[in-house]
Amino acid sequence: PAPPLGSSVIPVVNKLQDIFAQLGSQSSIELPQVAVVGSQSSGKSSVLEALVGRDFLPRGNEICTRRPLVLQLVQTKKKGDGSEEEWGEFLHRPDKRFYDFSEIRSEIEAVTAREAGENKGVSDKQIRLKIFSPNVLDITLVDLPGITKVPVGDQPTDIESRIRTMIMSYIKKPSCLILAVTAANADLANSDALQVAGVADPDGYRTIGIITKLDIMDRGTDARNLLLGKVIPLRLGYVGVVNRSQEDINLNRSIKDALAAEEKFFRSHPVYSTVADRCGVPQLAKKLNNILVQHIKALLPGLKSRISDALVSVAKEHASYGEITESKVCNLAGQGALVLNIISKYYEAFASMLEGRNEE
Ligand code: GDP
Ligand code: MG
Repeated sequence: PAPPLGSSVIPVVNKLQDIFAQLGSQSSIELPQVAVVGSQSSGKSSVLEALVGRDFLPRGNEICTRRPLVLQLVQTKKKGDGSEEEWGEFLHRPDKRFYDFSEIRSEIEAVTAREAGENKGVSDKQIRLKIFSPNVLDITLVDLPGITKVPVGDQPTDIESRIRTMIMSYIKKPSCLILAVTAANADLANSDALQVAGVADPDGYRTIGIITKLDIMDRGTDARNLLLGKVIPLRLGYVGVVNRSQEDINLNRSIKDALAAEEKFFRSHPVYSTVADRCGVPQLAKKLNNILVQHIKALLPGLKSRISDALVSVAKEHASYGEITESKVCNLAGQGALVLNIISKYYEAFASMLEGRNEE
């Protein structure tokens, strides 16, 4: 089964957050947002669901994602008895915890229709959902409507440019990682995903290419050259995946079964087994992890100096308490030294943890 997204960075981030909590400061690790872009029905929602490991997004062979969904994953502590509770909460319904994930999907469908109508309309008004779980990293994923060319239903004639503008408003932020999704049975050279990602991130520092539907390519063709970046090179490379088909969705096939089937597909395939490091949702999760690790690593020196600045100012403040008794001073100094000690110790530990990770 796929390691949950961010599994290898969760311990590092948690320890850093603990330190900031001890220092009484707000948590200071801000991870990048991850947004999916691509043509309609290329498999964007399917990829996000596979990364989260739960079924809760509307998916299908016509337009399903019609409002941006900002999905904030929030890590919770395991309960005392070791049991795991996972639930969702919508910003528009703060009173209700959704423990049943299929109910989350119905709610997304209902509020999509409320804002964007029943007939394929699209709205740029966000739906905001938080998923609470002990198995996730605190990260924000954004599911976006796909690019379509021909207006259908209630869509305005300029639907394509409206959707492009909406997508750009998310992915132009330098802190946004872009998952550019293209179906393997479409032409990569005409990929909407790579086109729009290329506009937002021309140097390709934050774009990962994802090729879906490897299971339904024309007989006699395969995506090996695409995955190797020989068709359109991408700095961060490509990952190929196999999501559930429409039939799987109709039959309510579970995400667990789907991941097992994907693993089997790649393992037994004569071509893909030769590029196994570029295939499968677990590889995608790993790639994202590595990028997050780089991100945290880049933040560490700044964090360290902020911590020492905070300590210096605390020490000055203590020194200014003239009337304080000697025993109190010793006590405070002792605490300060303890905190500094913890930080230095962890700092070394993080650095070596992160180094170790990169060698994987
Ligand atoms: P989105 O519009 O980009 O969010 O795409 P969805 O995730 O809603 O998927 C669109 C349709 O393509 C659904 O019917 C999915 O079952 C199907 N689909 C997505 N990925 C794959 C895949 O890798 N293989 C197959 N066979 N079908 C897929
Ligand atoms: Mg979708």
